[in-house]
Amino acid sequence: MLEAVMSMHAYMLGVFFVFGSLVGSFLNVCIYRVPLAVSIVAPRSRCNRCGVPIAWYDNLPIISFFILAGRCRFCGVYIGVRHFWIELFVGLASAFLFSQYGVSFEFLYFFVFFSVLIVVTFIDIDHQIIPDGISYWGMATGVLLALHFEIAQMRWDVDFAQSILGLLFGGGLLWFVAWAYEKVTLREGLGFGDVKLMGFFGAHVGIEGVCFVLFYGAFLGSIVGVAMMIFGQAHKRTAIPFGPYLCLGLVLYELRIHELFGFWSVV
Ligand SMILES: [Zn+2]
Repeated sequence: MLEAVMSMHAYMLGVFFVFGSLVGSFLNVCIYRVPLAVSIVAPRSRCNRCGVPIAWYDNLPIISFFILAGRCRFCGVYIGVRHFWIELFVGLASAFLFSQYGVSFEFLYFFVFFSVLIVVTFIDIDHQIIPDGISYWGMATGVLLALHFEIAQMRWDVDFAQSILGLLFGGGLLWFVAWAYEKVTLREGLGFGDVKLMGFFGAHVGIEGVCFVLFYGAFLGSIVGVAMMIFGQAHKRTAIPFGPYLCLGLVLYELRIHELFGFWSVV
């Protein structure tokens, strides 16, 4: 009996991994098309160089990368390894969330949130922008979910007031940092996209969450920044997109890394 349950569980983990990798494949399309303001639904994916539409059997997540060695079947242009990693990573995240939450609202919430973070991260890396639409939708859903769960008297991370305060605190604090930085150094260091993104996060995690996300984000950002300067990849003036570190900071906060390391006992 136990064996049957275990193998059933492994099977379902596999199903959610495949589901996640398919979503990852779609996220790759979003990352490429959203900044160009092209529809994410139609037309179907095509090679960016030769324009030949990609057949379904060449568009299988993870597998197609190995069959085609990361190249276009027709013109041979190297598409790169990033698609593969995103498909793998989103697949693993889906399986992990299923193992934690089963088929539930929590699964849906965290999986959608994680998918949005992947899209924000890679659009920021590619274009140094964070689409306003994503941040505004994020703020609205954060506040509405908090309101909904408060009215329904169900457990949620933040209540309505905490969500509003988190939004104002997250956005306001980063806006102030951006403003002060510009006043002192007379150049732009922090984009307004980061300000709105932090407002979005604040609406979901409240003031306490904002503090952790900023702490993790600044910590990871400075480690990578210093490493890049040491290895000659960047100068003091190289603008490093901050969005990806904020996204990573949010993931670490949601994983409650600070509880794992007994962070509270330190401060
Ligand atoms: Zn091609």
